[in-house]
Amino acid sequence: MYDYIVVGAGSAGCVLANRLSADPARRVLLLEAGPADAVPEMADWRAWSRLLGSEVDWGTRTVPQRSAGNTVFLLSRGKVLGGSSGINASMHVRGHRATYDKWVEAGAKGWDYDNLLPYFKRSESAPGRDAAYRGTDGPMLVTPPARTGMLLDAAFAATVAEGHPVSADLNAADMTGVSWHDLTGIEGRRQSAADAYIRPHLDRPNLTVITDALVHRLVMEGRRCSGVEFTVKGQPTRTETAGEVVLSAGALGSPHLLMVSGIGPAAHLREMGIEVRADVAGVGANLHEHPQALHVVRTSPSGPAPSRPGLVDRFVLRFRTDPAEPDPDGEAVFLDYPLPSADGGAPQKGVTVAFALMTPSARGSVRLAGRDIDTQPLVDPNYLGGPSDIDRMIKILRTVRRITARMAWHEEELLPGPDVRSDEECAVYLRDSIQPFWHPAGTCRMGNDADAVVDSNLRVIGVSGLRIADASIMPTPISAHNNATVLAIAEKAADLIVPAQH
Ligand SMILES: Cc1cc2nc3c(=O)[nH]c(=O)nc-3n(C[C@H](O)[C@H](O)[C@H](O)COP(=O)(O)OP(=O)(O)OC[C@H]3O[C@@H](n4cnc5c(N)ncnc54)[C@H](O)[C@@H]3O)c2cc1C
Repeated sequence: MYDYIVVGAGSAGCVLANRLSADPARRVLLLEAGPADAVPEMADWRAWSRLLGSEVDWGTRTVPQRSAGNTVFLLSRGKVLGGSSGINASMHVRGHRATYDKWVEAGAKGWDYDNLLPYFKRSESAPGRDAAYRGTDGPMLVTPPARTGMLLDAAFAATVAEGHPVSADLNAADMTGVSWHDLTGIEGRRQSAADAYIRPHLDRPNLTVITDALVHRLVMEGRRCSGVEFTVKGQPTRTETAGEVVLSAGALGSPHLLMVSGIGPAAHLREMGIEVRADVAGVGANLHEHPQALHVVRTSPSGPAPSRPGLVDRFVLRFRTDPAEPDPDGEAVFLDYPLPSADGGAPQKGVTVAFALMTPSARGSVRLAGRDIDTQPLVDPNYLGGPSDIDRMIKILRTVRRITARMAWHEEELLPGPDVRSDEECAVYLRDSIQPFWHPAGTCRMGNDADAVVDSNLRVIGVSGLRIADASIMPTPISAHNNATVLAIAEKAADLIVPAQH
């Protein structure tokens, strides 16, 4: 009998299992579907793209994206101790303060930036930074990238010349502008949430971590969640809790597990032949994801050489397409190597800009394709499906083009290419080339309305003994990559579950 069962050892689950087991009197079980042993590439933060579609990726595919050329995308998510933090690109960026104000407007009382700030700080060690904003003794080590070459410095200078302010630290007071952003890890070595929060504490007698443990179902006694059923290497097991189950299976995994357990929209569950335990309409709705596209330029052969391929040397620009909007919706990540074009060729020297819409209006869904956890869910991020999304992506593309056009050593635009000029041509390019940014969220939305799934204490509405803490609870998209915010969500969740423990 455990006091707490945490389902999923990803970014959030590792934080929770650590904080909840800090008191030896509390018995905590952490269950993870993936393996404990990291594949070698996971240690190297430059090698993240080689992990896409690998054995530590669930390999989930989207349904055809009707606003993006009917393409089916691989929407990677980590299946390993550490979850997606074990395969991600290591960027450590908080959202703009206005991001979290929108959460409060959406009914998430107590989740504004000032309330979250202590949790952002508690999660990280960012030595030498503004201590009013940055943590000094948290488990996640975060450092700016090692600067490697003049090519990216030229792109940085061009961004400033285009009128964007320099932010010394996007995770501190200046939350917009151009900045060398932090990475999770040190000297090229990734630090996943498991490395930071779990591996150093595996000797705690009150913490049990079971990997290769696929949770099939939440055990319900009436409207109370009393435990979980899972298999380890095919062997079925059932574990009860006197306390709570905390679902941290991620934005795709958490709604999937809820629905196969009978918690979700009643009509959909009945259609799938699943007994309805709790009719919670919002489960699996409100999926949001940041659409991303690429802009590539070739630079002069006489200019500086790019860093080694895949080297993490990059900076980020965060800006608004509409100055009246408080939350910045545009993001561009500048990399000092040209990615191969569709025909497989890549110039020797160049810059790639990955640009994204951070506050898309499109909402998608996670729905069941089968009655059990073994059948991957139907995932529809609805890329570019929102009313203003394509127009804002075009503005973001035009912004990054203006910047690279100013760059020293700029020779030729390869993507979208000089022929793509009008709004119509840009829209065609974007709909044909959009890609996942791997930030699915929002599918168990926090709020206080009829479609909310969890309340602002992260309790599943209408069910007792069950909370959710992971990317799925985000009410609206954040103007950042998701990981730093997920860590803060889980840090706060630990305090909600066991008040005043720290
Ligand atoms: C390729 C990629 C690149 C990214 N790059 C960045 C980046 O650079 N910066 C950034 O901030 N964010 C990035 N992200 C996003 C970020 O990593 C995620 O938003 C974050 O890790 C999500 O945390 P989570 O706890 O919600 O889910 P996850 O970390 O995905 O954890 C969920 C865990 O639950 C487990 N699980 C699911 N279902 C079950 C089940 N039924 N039984 C048992 N276990 C289960 C999974 O295996 C997984 O370990 C990236 C993500 C990906 C995939």
